Amino acid sequence: MGKRIVITGVPGVGKTTVVNGALEQLKGEGIEYRSLNFGTFMFEVAEAEGMVKDRDGMRKLDRDQQKRLQKAAAQKMAQIPGNVIIDTHCTVKTPKGFLAGLPEWVLRELQPDMVVLVETDEDQILSRRLNDPTRTRDMEGSREIAFHQEFNRSMAAAYAMVSGCTISVVKNQDHLLEQAVARMADVLR
Ligand code: AMP
Ligand code: MG
Repeated sequence: MGKRIVITGVPGVGKTTVVNGALEQLKGEGIEYRSLNFGTFMFEVAEAEGMVKDRDGMRKLDRDQQKRLQKAAAQKMAQIPGNVIIDTHCTVKTPKGFLAGLPEWVLRELQPDMVVLVETDEDQILSRRLNDPTRTRDMEGSREIAFHQEFNRSMAAAYAMVSGCTISVVKNQDHLLEQAVARMADVLR
């Protein structure tokens, strides 16, 4: 059986950067993971159906539409064998409140071995968002970002209770990317 690791973190924390670094390192050791992006699987369906123009539009869709896309994405990803990393969100901040990224039926499909929380200080996340013109990020203050990260920890505890997965925290602090990559590689090894 391959390993199934779910990587989460608030937008802008640098999940993708840390994971890519760690995968590079592990490749040299003969450990391979296939890296999947939950949002991309959802967006393929959403775009084909003309629901949204870009991936950042999906969190503004009706809750039922988001749940349908989420389910379709989880079913597709569950088919993929071998060691798999799933880049996603513990919770998605929608206009109607936080939506669980891994509700019970998604956990049942994916059966993750571990959920990783990538975190850093809220003021660092704020400045990373301000410096990323490629994405349509919501404007939030650092207190809201701090709350979102805290809430994600609570949700991760719920995921552990439902699925029996373990939870790991990887810090991705400014100027310490190498440390974050090394820690992520450890977690994935
Ligand atoms: P990302 O590129 O990781 O920021 O993901 C883009 C978008 O995909 C997010 O803003 C969400 O709308 C959606 N998304 C990703 N993962 C999930 C999930 N597990 N549940 C619901 N929506 C998700
Ligand atoms: Mg990303």
